[in-house]
Amino acid sequence: MSHEGIKIVNAEEAQRDAEHERLPAEAVTPAKIRVMKTEGTGVEIDWKDGHRSAWNFAWLRNACPCATCHDEREKSGRKPGEAKPKTQTLLVMYEAPVRPVEVTPVGKYAVKFKWTDGHEAGIYSWEYLRRVCGCEACARRG
Ligand SMILES: [Zn+2]
Ligand SMILES: [Zn+2]
Repeated sequence: MSHEGIKIVNAEEAQRDAEHERLPAEAVTPAKIRVMKTEGTGVEIDWKDGHRSAWNFAWLRNACPCATCHDEREKSGRKPGEAKPKTQTLLVMYEAPVRPVEVTPVGKYAVKFKWTDGHEAGIYSWEYLRRVCGCEACARRG
């Protein structure tokens, strides 16, 4: 067995490479999509490479990829899916969990949600969703 062509990289370089790594087509192509809109729970995707991802709707709302939500997260240092801290009011009012009122496919590459809070600017591409997969294996990878 020849080891020719294998590049040894240090951890930092490996990390940097991982960030720019292009995901293979099977990893960003859904084989099956389940949107539990009626149940109000979340979305599950079985990818063509055999991986499975699941997100709840609140998480997806907090991971909205539109420019406004993205900037807001950058400014407050939140990760996609992280909820806003609730410090604005002492009077805690019951907030119905956010869920989509409409789910629309966008071409072959993405899906769009219209949320109960009226927001609908985010286009969730398959590639984005795969990158924010929250399963244990992906979470470990960082
Ligand atoms: Zn948004
Ligand atoms: Zn995963």
